[in-house]
Amino acid sequence: MTYTSKVLEDLRVRHSHQPEFLQAVEEVLNTLQPLMDKEPKYEKNKILERIVEPERIIQFRVEWIDDKGEIQVNRGYRIQYNSAIGPYKGGLRLHPTVNEGVLRFLGFEQIFKNSLTGTAIGGAKGGSDFDPKGKSETEIMRFCQAFMVQLYRYIGPTIDVPAGDIGVGGREIGYLYGAYKRLTTRYEGILTGKDLNFGGSLARKEATGYGVVYFAAEMLKDRGDSLEGKICAVSGSGNVATYCVEKLYQEGAKPVTISDSRGSIYDPNGINLEVMKQVKEVERASLTRYKELVPEAVYVPVADYPEGKHYVWTVPVDAAFPCATQNEVNLEDARTLLANGCKCVAEGANMPSSIDAINAFLASGIAYGPAKAANAGGVATSQLEMEQNAGMTSWTFEEVDAKLHQIMRNIYRNAAATAEEFGQPGNLVLGANICGFRKVADAMIAQGVI
Ligand code: NDP
Repeated sequence: MTYTSKVLEDLRVRHSHQPEFLQAVEEVLNTLQPLMDKEPKYEKNKILERIVEPERIIQFRVEWIDDKGEIQVNRGYRIQYNSAIGPYKGGLRLHPTVNEGVLRFLGFEQIFKNSLTGTAIGGAKGGSDFDPKGKSETEIMRFCQAFMVQLYRYIGPTIDVPAGDIGVGGREIGYLYGAYKRLTTRYEGILTGKDLNFGGSLARKEATGYGVVYFAAEMLKDRGDSLEGKICAVSGSGNVATYCVEKLYQEGAKPVTISDSRGSIYDPNGINLEVMKQVKEVERASLTRYKELVPEAVYVPVADYPEGKHYVWTVPVDAAFPCATQNEVNLEDARTLLANGCKCVAEGANMPSSIDAINAFLASGIAYGPAKAANAGGVATSQLEMEQNAGMTSWTFEEVDAKLHQIMRNIYRNAAATAEEFGQPGNLVLGANICGFRKVADAMIAQGVI
């Protein structure tokens, strides 16, 4: 039995109740054996056994009072996964599906993604099973304050710097920041994704979505192609999807779909970005509102669609950008995309494709950009926000965007070069995993058994 399969086998027994975590580890470990064969030091130092284990899991009770005066209780978490190459860094997710297994998967992925950015940040993730949907503004604020009452003692600008994720945008970061400042009396760069008035970075809001498109453009450029004139499917309609759509237009492509948890929009004229922002960023409404404002668009409710199939991936497109959530592209979706002539998939969401869908993309030879490489622009720009905070300065939008663009080019080149090095040109899953892993593993060895 190989070293990677031994470690995987052991985890399967101990984490059988955490399928997303097992899926994320399997995806990484399945690609690392060639490196383990080449460099026995990793097995000798038991790096795999150590790297799959978070340095620390903090779980806490979050209690708050709703608008009716009722006491509410939620579970809060912060998983400080790996600090070998820098302070813990990773988002906070507020969604009813959040549990330890989901955050382990996200935190584990974050280690390699952060390493790939080429900046000095370790991996972490956190959040709560709190559901922001249907909550009033004051309920959101009270929840964020109660969450920070627990979290503040474990974070700091050189310890752990959380950011946003699903359900956590600028508004929530603002409330969390205010609570931290009140509890500590310190004004410091403790969260990223902050408002521009108190230490936020220009282009952070746009960074993940823009970065995914920069990554897709790099993959296509290497194949003598570009996004110009490409018809694209985007899923989701939150932060990542919105700025993916915006950048696709800037690159001359035409995004025709978006979705939310209740349904999907197909707009053959191209997604109306202004309407999308109005509906999602201003009104925080469902996509049925998009249909009201753009009557010629098609709206397909999730309930109308057969179980296990996702409408957005049935629309014939040249390129696909999953930007909603994990496991939103299964094998059948992948086959449909490929049969319809899709030539490029770049992942904005974390782990949007199942392992068999990934294998189908790789086998087809299309340009496939896995999440930890393609969506690393968000955390990379968070690191740029930390740099600006530490230097008590702020850069222009153009400066930050140019740095982001360069980081995405570098990530692509490094992943592609590593895939070549291991004899699998074009396999960016293997390239990204090995490239991200190597730096963290070498740092762990250099720092000793601690
Ligand atoms: P948002 O909360 O802004 O948007 C999430 C979008 O996905 C919404 O349209 C939401 O629909 C939809 N969605 C969420 N859960 C589900 C579900 N279970 N089924 C169907 N649709 C769902 O989050 P972000 O845009 O920030 O994040 C999207 C993805 O990108 C996540 O996987 C996140 O981890 C990843 N990511 C985000 C980064 C960032 O900088 N924000 C950085 C790197 C990765 P609805 O509103 O109806 O719930």
